[in-house]
Amino acid sequence: MKKVVLASNNKHKIKEIKMIFNDVEILTLKDIDYNDEIEESGSTFLENALIKAKTVKKYLIEKGLDYPVLADDSGLCCEAIDLAPGVYSARYAGVHDDSAANRAKLLKELKDKKRKAYFTCTLVYLEDMNSYIYKEGKTYGTIIDDERGKKDFGYDCIFLSDDLGVTFGEASEEAKNKVSHRFRALKGLKEELKKRS
Ligand code: IMP
Repeated sequence: MKKVVLASNNKHKIKEIKMIFNDVEILTLKDIDYNDEIEESGSTFLENALIKAKTVKKYLIEKGLDYPVLADDSGLCCEAIDLAPGVYSARYAGVHDDSAANRAKLLKELKDKKRKAYFTCTLVYLEDMNSYIYKEGKTYGTIIDDERGKKDFGYDCIFLSDDLGVTFGEASEEAKNKVSHRFRALKGLKEELKKRS
Protein backbone atom coordinates (compact mmCIF):
# COMPACT_ATOMS: atom_id res chain seq x y z
CA MET A 1 0.00 0.00 0.00
CA LYS A 2 1.23 3.50 -0.88
CA LYS A 3 2.60 5.39 2.11
CA VAL A 4 1.72 9.06 2.69
CA VAL A 5 2.98 11.20 5.58
CA LEU A 6 0.35 13.36 7.28
CA ALA A 7 1.86 16.64 8.52
CA SER A 8 -0.25 16.93 11.65
CA ASN A 9 -0.14 16.05 15.32
CA ASN A 10 -3.85 16.64 15.84
CA LYS A 11 -5.20 13.25 16.92
CA HIS A 12 -8.73 14.06 15.73
CA LYS A 13 -7.56 15.02 12.25
CA ILE A 14 -5.31 11.94 12.08
CA LYS A 15 -8.21 9.65 13.01
CA GLU A 16 -10.63 11.25 10.53
CA ILE A 17 -8.13 11.29 7.67
CA LYS A 18 -7.13 7.65 8.31
CA MET A 19 -10.81 6.64 8.19
CA ILE A 20 -11.52 8.57 4.98
CA PHE A 21 -8.23 8.11 3.07
CA ASN A 22 -8.21 4.39 3.73
CA ASP A 23 -6.65 3.21 0.47
CA VAL A 24 -3.21 4.54 1.46
CA GLU A 25 -1.12 3.93 4.56
CA ILE A 26 -1.03 7.16 6.57
CA LEU A 27 2.20 7.73 8.48
CA THR A 28 2.07 10.29 11.27
CA LEU A 29 4.81 12.68 12.34
CA LYS A 30 5.49 10.32 15.23
CA ASP A 31 6.02 7.46 12.75
CA ILE A 32 8.75 9.43 10.96
CA ASP A 33 10.23 10.66 14.25
CA TYR A 34 9.47 14.33 13.58
CA ASN A 35 9.09 16.08 16.91
CA ASP A 36 9.33 19.83 16.24
CA GLU A 37 6.43 22.28 16.33
CA ILE A 38 5.62 23.80 12.93
CA GLU A 39 4.87 27.49 13.17
CA GLU A 40 1.73 28.39 11.21
CA SER A 41 2.76 31.88 10.19
CA GLY A 42 0.67 32.16 7.02
CA SER A 43 -2.36 34.39 6.62
CA THR A 44 -4.42 31.93 4.55
CA PHE A 45 -5.31 28.27 4.91
CA LEU A 46 -3.33 27.47 1.77
CA GLU A 47 -0.20 29.25 3.00
CA ASN A 48 -0.35 27.37 6.30
CA ALA A 49 -0.97 24.01 4.66
CA LEU A 50 2.00 24.62 2.34
CA ILE A 51 4.25 25.61 5.27
CA LYS A 52 3.37 22.35 7.06
CA ALA A 53 3.76 20.19 3.93
CA LYS A 54 7.08 21.74 2.84
CA THR A 55 8.60 21.65 6.34
CA VAL A 56 7.89 17.93 6.61
CA LYS A 57 8.95 17.20 3.01
CA LYS A 58 12.28 18.94 3.64
CA TYR A 59 12.80 16.78 6.73
CA LEU A 60 12.00 13.61 4.73
CA ILE A 61 14.45 14.56 1.97
CA GLU A 62 17.17 15.15 4.57
CA LYS A 63 16.47 11.66 5.93
CA GLY A 64 16.57 10.14 2.43
CA LEU A 65 12.87 9.23 2.51
CA ASP A 66 10.67 9.73 -0.55
CA TYR A 67 7.09 9.80 0.71
CA PRO A 68 4.48 12.31 -0.47
CA VAL A 69 3.21 14.62 2.28
CA LEU A 70 -0.39 15.52 3.03
CA ALA A 71 -1.11 18.64 5.08
CA ASP A 72 -4.47 19.92 6.31
CA ASP A 73 -5.16 23.45 7.43
CA SER A 74 -8.70 23.96 8.55
CA GLY A 75 -10.91 26.21 10.60
CA LEU A 76 -14.31 27.66 11.32
CA CYS A 77 -15.56 30.80 9.53
CA CYS A 78 -18.51 32.78 10.91
CA GLU A 79 -20.24 35.13 8.51
CA ALA A 80 -21.31 37.76 11.07
CA ILE A 81 -17.76 38.37 12.30
CA ASP A 82 -15.86 38.66 9.02
CA LEU A 83 -15.20 34.92 8.76
CA ALA A 84 -13.39 34.73 12.11
CA PRO A 85 -11.86 32.73 13.72
CA GLY A 86 -10.66 31.45 10.31
CA VAL A 87 -6.96 30.64 10.22
CA TYR A 88 -6.79 31.44 13.95
CA SER A 89 -9.36 28.77 14.90
CA ALA A 90 -6.90 26.65 16.88
CA ARG A 91 -5.66 29.60 18.97
CA TYR A 92 -8.62 32.01 18.92
CA ALA A 93 -8.55 32.57 22.68
CA GLY A 94 -4.75 32.80 22.79
CA VAL A 95 -3.62 29.32 23.79
CA HIS A 96 -3.11 26.69 21.06
CA ASP A 97 -5.82 24.02 21.02
CA ASP A 98 -7.69 25.17 24.15
CA SER A 99 -11.02 24.23 22.59
CA ALA A 100 -13.20 25.21 25.58
CA ALA A 101 -11.65 28.71 25.73
CA ASN A 102 -11.91 29.08 21.94
CA ARG A 103 -15.60 28.20 22.01
CA ALA A 104 -16.28 30.57 24.93
CA LYS A 105 -14.61 33.43 23.07
CA LEU A 106 -16.53 32.66 19.90
CA LEU A 107 -19.89 32.62 21.69
CA LYS A 108 -19.05 35.97 23.28
CA GLU A 109 -18.15 37.48 19.90
CA LEU A 110 -21.34 36.10 18.35
CA LYS A 111 -23.70 37.36 21.07
CA ASP A 112 -26.82 38.80 19.40
CA LYS A 113 -25.33 38.18 15.95
CA LYS A 114 -26.36 35.88 13.12
CA ARG A 115 -24.95 32.37 13.49
CA LYS A 116 -24.36 31.10 9.97
CA ALA A 117 -20.93 29.45 9.72
CA TYR A 118 -18.90 26.96 7.79
CA PHE A 119 -15.91 24.76 8.39
CA THR A 120 -13.32 24.80 5.66
CA CYS A 121 -10.40 22.50 4.99
CA THR A 122 -7.50 23.09 2.61
CA LEU A 123 -5.44 20.05 1.81
CA VAL A 124 -2.05 20.13 0.17
CA TYR A 125 -0.55 16.96 -1.30
CA LEU A 126 3.12 17.46 -1.98
CA GLU A 127 4.90 14.92 -4.19
CA ASP A 128 8.10 16.93 -4.43
CA MET A 129 9.16 20.44 -3.42
CA ASN A 130 7.99 21.97 -6.71
CA SER A 131 4.68 20.32 -7.42
CA TYR A 132 1.62 20.05 -5.27
CA ILE A 133 -2.11 19.48 -5.54
CA TYR A 134 -4.48 21.40 -3.33
CA LYS A 135 -8.15 20.88 -2.68
CA GLU A 136 -10.71 22.65 -0.52
CA GLY A 137 -13.84 21.36 1.18
CA LYS A 138 -16.55 23.21 3.06
CA THR A 139 -19.47 22.20 5.25
CA TYR A 140 -22.22 24.56 6.43
CA GLY A 141 -24.10 24.99 9.67
CA THR A 142 -25.17 27.22 12.55
CA ILE A 143 -23.35 28.05 15.78
CA ILE A 144 -25.50 27.27 18.83
CA ASP A 145 -25.07 28.45 22.45
CA ASP A 146 -25.41 25.11 24.22
CA GLU A 147 -22.72 22.49 23.80
CA ARG A 148 -24.14 19.23 22.51
CA GLY A 149 -22.26 15.94 22.31
CA LYS A 150 -18.53 15.30 22.47
CA LYS A 151 -16.55 18.37 23.49
CA ASP A 152 -13.02 17.23 22.71
CA PHE A 153 -12.52 18.45 19.13
CA GLY A 154 -12.58 22.19 18.53
CA TYR A 155 -15.98 23.65 17.69
CA ASP A 156 -17.76 20.32 16.97
CA CYS A 157 -20.21 20.52 19.88
CA ILE A 158 -21.54 23.99 18.95
CA PHE A 159 -21.65 23.44 15.17
CA LEU A 160 -25.15 22.37 14.17
CA SER A 161 -24.65 20.78 10.77
CA ASP A 162 -27.08 21.72 7.96
CA ASP A 163 -26.53 18.27 6.45
CA LEU A 164 -27.04 16.21 9.59
CA GLY A 165 -29.48 18.24 11.73
CA VAL A 166 -27.33 17.55 14.82
CA THR A 167 -24.02 18.99 16.00
CA PHE A 168 -20.79 17.40 14.83
CA GLY A 169 -20.25 16.53 18.51
CA GLU A 170 -23.46 14.48 18.53
CA ALA A 171 -22.90 12.84 15.15
CA SER A 172 -21.19 9.45 14.86
CA GLU A 173 -17.72 9.49 13.32
CA GLU A 174 -19.12 7.79 10.23
CA ALA A 175 -21.89 10.39 9.81
CA LYS A 176 -19.52 13.34 10.25
CA ASN A 177 -17.04 11.77 7.84
CA LYS A 178 -19.68 11.67 5.08
CA VAL A 179 -20.33 15.43 5.07
CA SER A 180 -17.33 17.09 6.70
CA HIS A 181 -15.09 19.72 5.15
CA ARG A 182 -12.19 17.27 5.50
CA PHE A 183 -14.11 14.52 3.72
CA ARG A 184 -15.05 16.86 0.87
CA ALA A 185 -11.47 18.07 0.40
CA LEU A 186 -10.14 14.49 0.54
CA LYS A 187 -12.74 13.32 -1.97
CA GLY A 188 -11.50 15.96 -4.41
CA LEU A 189 -7.92 14.95 -3.76
CA LYS A 190 -8.60 11.26 -4.26
CA GLU A 191 -10.35 11.99 -7.58
CA GLU A 192 -7.43 14.13 -8.74
CA LEU A 193 -4.88 11.46 -7.77
CA LYS A 194 -6.90 8.82 -9.61
CA LYS A 195 -6.99 10.98 -12.75
CA ARG A 196 -3.21 11.35 -12.63
CA SER A 197 -2.42 7.67 -12.02
P1 IMP B 1 -5.12 23.80 12.33
O1 IMP B 1 -5.65 23.39 10.98
O2 IMP B 1 -4.27 22.77 12.95
O3 IMP B 1 -4.55 25.17 12.32
O4 IMP B 1 -6.35 23.87 13.35
C1 IMP B 1 -7.65 23.94 12.95
C2 IMP B 1 -8.55 24.25 14.13
O5 IMP B 1 -9.87 24.48 13.58
C3 IMP B 1 -8.71 23.10 15.11
O6 IMP B 1 -7.81 23.18 16.18
C4 IMP B 1 -10.15 23.28 15.57
O7 IMP B 1 -10.23 24.25 16.57
C5 IMP B 1 -10.83 23.82 14.33
N1 IMP B 1 -11.36 22.71 13.51
C6 IMP B 1 -10.93 22.32 12.28
N2 IMP B 1 -11.65 21.26 11.85
C7 IMP B 1 -12.52 20.98 12.82
C8 IMP B 1 -13.53 19.97 12.97
O8 IMP B 1 -13.75 19.10 12.13
N3 IMP B 1 -14.21 20.02 14.13
C9 IMP B 1 -14.01 20.94 15.10
N4 IMP B 1 -13.10 21.89 15.03
C10 IMP B 1 -12.35 21.91 13.89
